[in-house]
Amino acid sequence: AKANGSDACELYKREMRYQLHEKFHVENDLRRALERGEFSLFFQPQFDLSTNQYCGEEVLVRWDHPVEGLISPSKFLSIAEESGLIVAIGEWVLKESCLQKKRLIEQGFPEVPMSVNLSLKQFLQKNIVETVKNALQESKLPPHLLELEVTESVTIDIDRTKGVLQRLLSLGVHISLDDFGTGYSSLQYVSQLSIQELKIDQTFVRNIGKERQSEGIISMIINLAHYLNITVIAEGVETEEQLLFLKEHRCNKVQGYYYSRPLALKEYKVFLTDTLHL
Ligand code: C2E
Ligand code: CA
Ligand code: CA
Ligand code: CA
Repeated sequence: AKANGSDACELYKREMRYQLHEKFHVENDLRRALERGEFSLFFQPQFDLSTNQYCGEEVLVRWDHPVEGLISPSKFLSIAEESGLIVAIGEWVLKESCLQKKRLIEQGFPEVPMSVNLSLKQFLQKNIVETVKNALQESKLPPHLLELEVTESVTIDIDRTKGVLQRLLSLGVHISLDDFGTGYSSLQYVSQLSIQELKIDQTFVRNIGKERQSEGIISMIINLAHYLNITVIAEGVETEEQLLFLKEHRCNKVQGYYYSRPLALKEYKVFLTDTLHL
């Protein structure tokens, strides 16, 4: 038994070393990826349910790995987050998405807002307001066309968050509270934050027609948004049934595979051109 125990311990140690090793590698790869310009931006359109019109998009980062191909953020963002690299990656995303959006507008695509995700760590950077301001200035993108998506985790430090949000809002950008309903922020906090949009998490949307509880939460979030006089958007809409439910409950906007997967810029332009009959 003793031998087994120490074997297990040895195995555990080896696994730990392996994990650390792996993480170290991914971290280095990420750093190099940033230097080599291996990240790219995908765009997923959003639609207004009252007009059925294209009304904006969300920018989603991808790692275009030379060997592995496109890698989704779920595979590398936690390591980027832990190592702090998310800050540099996030700055690149912000800058680049503003430049690309500005170009889209110059090419005649509609002047609708673009949403960019901000991680908690990025949001808590001392210079976050400066970073956003620079991205806007360098791209000359009108501030009202930039919407920043933050998650409820920002309410961990509510007083600080209120200050940062105020300063961001004074730049003219909009704020959307992402993954809403999955976190732990109190309704009181939400009503204190000056935000323009609540984004219903896809875990609830997925359960439409399957689970009464999720449907109840969705309708509650929609009512809350209407009460607060802000916009509400649902993500992860894949079926007509989900769409109809959201329409009936007067959700303002939707985004999901039902309309389009996130697309690379070139494909996105084709999608928009077809959709808008440009
Ligand atoms: P999120 O912000 O909740 O983004 C929505 C995710 O759902 C995206 O995954 C999107 O591709 C996916 N999605 C959209 N429509 C559907 C649908 O109809 N069905 C299903 N099953 N999924 C759908 P993605 O692109 O893999 O991104 C995952 C997460 O990574 C994002 O979740 C966001 O938290 C984070 N992320 C992505 N890009 C960035 C970024 O530039 N910066 C930061 N900080 N985080 C990012
Ligand atoms: Ca939006
Ligand atoms: Ca998001
Ligand atoms: Ca989500």
